[in-house]
Amino acid sequence: MTDPIGLGAVGTQSSDRVRVESLSWATANGAVNAVANAGLCVLECPECHQRPDIANLQNYLGCTDCSLRLGIPVNYTIAYPAPATKAQFEVARALPATRGIWRWSAMLPVEDPNPVSLGEGNTPLVHLQSLGPRLGLDGLYLKNESTNPTWSHKDRLCASAVTAARALGAQTVAAASTGNHGVSLAAYAARAGLRCVISTISSVPDTMKILMEAYGAELQVVEDWNERYQLIADGVRDEGWFACSNSTAVPVGSTPYGVDAYKTIAYELWEQFGGAPIGAVVVPAGYGDCLAGIVRGFEDLRTAGLLEAWPKFIAAEVFGRITQSLKSIEPTTGPYGVSPTAAFSIGGAYTTHQALYALRTSGGTAVSVSEDEILETQASLASLEGFYAEASSCVAVAAAKIACRSGLISSNLPSVVVSTSTGLKDTKATQKWLQQHRENPVVRVGERSDLTV
Ligand SMILES: [Zn+2]
Repeated sequence: MTDPIGLGAVGTQSSDRVRVESLSWATANGAVNAVANAGLCVLECPECHQRPDIANLQNYLGCTDCSLRLGIPVNYTIAYPAPATKAQFEVARALPATRGIWRWSAMLPVEDPNPVSLGEGNTPLVHLQSLGPRLGLDGLYLKNESTNPTWSHKDRLCASAVTAARALGAQTVAAASTGNHGVSLAAYAARAGLRCVISTISSVPDTMKILMEAYGAELQVVEDWNERYQLIADGVRDEGWFACSNSTAVPVGSTPYGVDAYKTIAYELWEQFGGAPIGAVVVPAGYGDCLAGIVRGFEDLRTAGLLEAWPKFIAAEVFGRITQSLKSIEPTTGPYGVSPTAAFSIGGAYTTHQALYALRTSGGTAVSVSEDEILETQASLASLEGFYAEASSCVAVAAAKIACRSGLISSNLPSVVVSTSTGLKDTKATQKWLQQHRENPVVRVGERSDLTV
């Protein structure tokens, strides 16, 4: 095993934020980077509270002891030096919103005066004034994550994860991805001057592959879904890659240094609603990175005394994996049956411990959406509101409708759907649906009276 990591530069873990100072190395493109005074929080298992050595990149596969005891992998979370405070939030709010997620860096796992950034975060919150009432939710809002630099929520995760990888001295960042994660990681690796390897499957939409390659990533295209993870795990073990995504066959989730960057979605929602109570937050979920991060962000707000009650967290899913795992008495995350889905970003036969833990500790639940509802919702969201969202985002909108009709969401308080990415990355699914449901006959001038005004 090679050891490209500057282990000597990583200080003691007796304090909760490890300082990494004056570390330098040659990057993939030959430049020499230097990172001074980056601060990384340590990791902690949410079940047994063990704290692993963060310089050992294989520890990002999760807590071994709890995996053996529970039979499912357990992702580490971040241990902060102290609970978030009202004063920290006040300082952050006084900073320019254009700093995006880094405005909140005192509450994030990575503190770096020069983070790897493309301007992520600070995304709009928009009232769905036409579609909301039709779904029974007059106060339904959309958090539009497609305004991020690579048009998805993953930019929050990758900005933080790549900054952490750089601080730890990794020369290669890697991910197993069906799309958004790989595109985003490729862009942030390019920004940092690091090598990027993406392991993906052959059925990924061409737009995703084109974007990954345009940003300079090396693609490993495989046929089997689980081979992707083995390729990344091998790279971590043998070549010291920093895995930004899940890399275990039974999924554990993405690096905690990325997952906690999603806390900023909670902070922004709190600010955008002016601190008023939020009834429900509906998040597309498979492995639950975004969901877990958002729940932890709201936990910070409650700890700081800035929000009295949890919103109702709803994992919007396909295949019913989270729903069934929540009902199970024995710990399980799958496998469950799968079928082709337009919402491939949240596909897969498993969910994760972190998704279940986030819902159980916050009183949340899951709502499963059928394939027919996904693209119908995509068409409604686009034609009634002007948002062309990716299919996985539309799972959240459809789940909000179902949750309202079953009484899980009250219309008395505003509710939010997190729209994770744009539909432009996979127009073929939309095209197929439109061909089945819309007619556009060929028209010649003079043949239709309504065209000859
Ligand atoms: Zn543990």
